[in-house]
Amino acid sequence: MTFLVNYLVLGEAGLATARRLQAELGGVIHGYGKRVQGANIRPFDDVAATLRNCFAAGQPLIALCAAGIVIRHLAPVLSGKHDDAPVLALAEDGSAIVPLLGGHHGGNDLARRLGKVLNTAPAITTASDTAFAIALDEPPAGWRLANPLDMKAFVSELRAGVAVRIEGEAAWLHASALPQADDGTLRITIADAPLLGDGRHLVYHRQILALGVGCERGVEQEELIGLINETLTAENLSPLSLAGIFSLDLKTDETAIHAAAAHFDIPARFFDVAALLAQESRLANPSDAVKAEVGVSGVAEAAALAAADSGGGALAVEKRKSQRATCAIARADDIIDPAVLGAARGHLAIVGIGPGRADWRTGAAEAAMRQADIIVGYGLYLDLIADLTADKDCRAYNLGEEEARVATAIEMAASGQNVALVSSGDAGVFAMGALAHELLDRDDTPGHWDRISLELLPGISAMQAAALRVGAPLGHDFCAISLSDLLTPREVILRRIVAAAASDFVIAFYNPVSKRRRDLLALARDLLLRHRPEDTPVILARNLGRANEMVTALPLSELQVDDVDMLTLVMVGSSETRARLRGDGSWSVYTPRGYAAKQTVLTKEA
Ligand code: SAH
Repeated sequence: MTFLVNYLVLGEAGLATARRLQAELGGVIHGYGKRVQGANIRPFDDVAATLRNCFAAGQPLIALCAAGIVIRHLAPVLSGKHDDAPVLALAEDGSAIVPLLGGHHGGNDLARRLGKVLNTAPAITTASDTAFAIALDEPPAGWRLANPLDMKAFVSELRAGVAVRIEGEAAWLHASALPQADDGTLRITIADAPLLGDGRHLVYHRQILALGVGCERGVEQEELIGLINETLTAENLSPLSLAGIFSLDLKTDETAIHAAAAHFDIPARFFDVAALLAQESRLANPSDAVKAEVGVSGVAEAAALAAADSGGGALAVEKRKSQRATCAIARADDIIDPAVLGAARGHLAIVGIGPGRADWRTGAAEAAMRQADIIVGYGLYLDLIADLTADKDCRAYNLGEEEARVATAIEMAASGQNVALVSSGDAGVFAMGALAHELLDRDDTPGHWDRISLELLPGISAMQAAALRVGAPLGHDFCAISLSDLLTPREVILRRIVAAAASDFVIAFYNPVSKRRRDLLALARDLLLRHRPEDTPVILARNLGRANEMVTALPLSELQVDDVDMLTLVMVGSSETRARLRGDGSWSVYTPRGYAAKQTVLTKEA
């Protein structure tokens, strides 16, 4: 296994141990602040962020500190045990080695290697490991255990000294410390057929079958899954032997194919026409009608063959049809790795990162950014999420390059990648979200763009952040107006200001000024003063959730353009909005919902 080990050293005492290990295994030492310094040490100050970044990078992490520190900081970002990269806690002097996570993903092996270097027995706690140096319940990539529920019984028989007969080829099992014998009464079988197994008989499947599918647009997922199940049953094949579901790239956004992929817990991958045409001479059931429609004489057979091709594959099951779908299966000699075949359906997450503070982001937005391979955004915003992006391919753009930025993000997603396009605040409020949809909606949009999956993750918008800093000014009807005249004609902006003023809305002004444009805000103030009292509260909120945050309230008549810059949100109260300085100097600005007035009326009526 090749990997880059990260060592996290919190105190000087751990450094010597980390250096010893680094000399044997290589890797990078991260040292805490001023306490751990020296040549080739990457300094860090934020323990939690560094732990999480190293973990998110999917590389083994060796933390020379108390296990509790690691557990506490990583707990919020843990996923399933199948995804976890190895994490080990080591006593600073190397006297204890505890694999905490990812034991079966190299963590236990790594612990044993560290144990040899440090002459310490690792504290390996996973069940089958302790006895036989093998993880029967988590076989290597491309292998699946058919009856995991029987594992416990099987392992206790093993522990009791019963020998195993291995039926079929499995180098990882043969090479293990399992007690093997041709007349063993425990059995392990390697099969393509759907065998049941039991507490004395484990069944493994190799993922050597490629499932090719074709279908009409909009076919029901039940039909496709039903066809696949019938085919597997008729041919006596286990679904666990399937490595992936494959089709033509025109089908990248076909819901039923993704539903089938999820149902059988395999990835969906898509080939272009050229890749399928390369299989054309091998098709058992070529069809002129299909050729006329999509450019290749059969999608299901060609996709199955293309997927199994590198493993010397041949058609195992010819095309079978339901009313609106087809499927075929090819068998490779070796395990198929779908990750290198064709392309996945790309994903574009349009993410609002909130105003700036990490703890004002939504959990869903953070998760989307952690999952992304590529992060696209304005440079300042990328700085605000630096704690999440250490291991990412980040593409920073300058202000004003919005269209190029969004087009690039879509194109990268359309080529099969997982891309996060980040905006400050909420991505749907005066931000990239609308532009992304607009680009996808244009007539000249490349056809493959619209096949990506799109996800929108909410963020706290500047007006919400401004409001909560001072109280509840958005407590009654409000509107938001951008004063940017780059994309909106000034007359339209002015008309909206007048309408909002006359309707007594609380107004959140975004983009109140730019370097070039400073007059609209003064005009807005003067228009508003025709409808609202001079002492109507105005909130100026600058750099919300960032360093140098400044929030203040003042009367409308005192609003000066020079007090406002591009990073300010200006909120003007309605005629009902009240502002009060509290005893501790904080503001209480709120717009009542009218309960007090109602109460009075009720009292009077009573
Ligand atoms: N999508 C963003 C708005 C982007 S428009 C959101 O939902 O908040 C840019 C304008 O938003 C700025 O000119 C400013 O008026 C406001 N803004 C964005 N972030 C801000 C912050 N952290 N503090 C104050 N105003 C902010």
